Amino acid sequence: HVDGGRAEVPQAGAAGLRLLKRVGVVDPESLDDYRATGGYAALRTALLLGPSGVIREVTDAKLMGRGGAAFPTGRKWDATARQPVRPHYLVCNADESEPGTFKDRLLMEGDPYAVIESMTIAGFAAGCSRGYLYLRGEYPRALHLLRNAIARARERNYLGDDIMGHEGFSFEIEIRRGAGAYICGEETAIFNSIEGFRGEPRSKPPFPVESGLFGKPTVVNNVETLVNVPVILTEGCEAYTRIGTPGSAGPKLFCLSGNVSRPGVYEVPFGTTLGELLDLAGGVPPGRELRAVLLGGAAGGFVRPDELDLPLTMEDARAANTTLGSGVVLVLDDTADLGSFLLRIAAFFRDESCGQCVPCRIGTVRQEEAMARLVGKRPLSTSAEDLQLLREVGQVMRDSSICGLGQTAWNAIESALDRLGYATEATS
Ligand code: NAD
Ligand code: SF4
Repeated sequence: HVDGGRAEVPQAGAAGLRLLKRVGVVDPESLDDYRATGGYAALRTALLLGPSGVIREVTDAKLMGRGGAAFPTGRKWDATARQPVRPHYLVCNADESEPGTFKDRLLMEGDPYAVIESMTIAGFAAGCSRGYLYLRGEYPRALHLLRNAIARARERNYLGDDIMGHEGFSFEIEIRRGAGAYICGEETAIFNSIEGFRGEPRSKPPFPVESGLFGKPTVVNNVETLVNVPVILTEGCEAYTRIGTPGSAGPKLFCLSGNVSRPGVYEVPFGTTLGELLDLAGGVPPGRELRAVLLGGAAGGFVRPDELDLPLTMEDARAANTTLGSGVVLVLDDTADLGSFLLRIAAFFRDESCGQCVPCRIGTVRQEEAMARLVGKRPLSTSAEDLQLLREVGQVMRDSSICGLGQTAWNAIESALDRLGYATEATS
């Protein structure tokens, strides 16, 4: 479903969609289709508002990053725009690699011009002359469509010099492809990768807004974050904040996968409950019972069947000891083997650790070994020791790893132990 063929579009053409309104409806190669459905109206508005006006709209709309960390986008753009050093860069993080995440792929394949227009607006606001679109290497169709969109946009003066006749605004976009490393989705590893070095994260601070790509002030935004910007500029920030909740404004894409009847990408307002979202996707297959939902991806946490009234907002997810992350909703029914699932997650982090820092390089190996012993149902005494080891190793990784990969590599296992009773299951 994710890596083969086209991603599904269960809501194609449905009324009320904003982010997915063109996906599955327009020809993604056609700039005319894009313009006929409102494309480039937002850039025109942005050029009239000026950079500070655009930043004000995005800030007042309370747009938060959709890559997983929910940092306020307006603050990021403003901090970069204020840097006296030139040039400034924009990086669109399209290295979507979180297990169970495929929303950015759908946007890039279904509405590639929206990604290019949104990058251009972000570049205008933050004073960037060049944007890099860092694309997951395993997305060949997105590559083809984005290349086409950039070429067509350049032909029609939506990229290049004096864009749309706006004297002095020049912006170019270059695509760089990842080569299969999950860690290259970490923003500072992207910088190293683009600069030709090993894809290893840098220590933060300094944050990219001060010192990013080639040591220059850099805005890094996820694809979904960016495509919210034309919605804000065309509908206005007040209308935008009426979507969702006071703490989490706007529409949100969720990726439903696992034991669910209609997997795919769904657009709903923040504040929709998890139960309502599962209903949209048809729930678990007939005759099965829901066991748990992994929310937020491999670095997220589990939600139990008795917690389906959880509103999908940043603040409610946090209060429930999980995260919305990049919008992963991975459903497990009563046929799922939880131990093997957790072992797979542990193997994933061991595999994808870049090895730069000791807690993560060694910790992810020890974590996988302990999980393998638990899944192998060794005697009780070993299980209790392994559970203790998992907690100690997990805490060390969380406290002392350089980047988010090591810091969150123990989240899902901890959540299964504490919230799904896996500790009891593993020792019985
Ligand atoms: P982070 O909290 O360190 O940073 C979030 C963003 O805010 C970054 O761009 C950072 O530069 C910026 N930022 C933070 N503090 C700042 C400050 N004081 N001034 C200026 N800018 C500041 O998180 P992160 O490590 O970048 O991302 C972690 C998230 O990534 C996790 O939530 C995870 O869910 C998600 N993730 C997503 C994918 C995917 O495929 N979409 C893959 C892996 C991880
Ligand atoms: Fe590399 Fe892991 Fe350290 Fe991140 S935490 S820098 S992935 S070794």
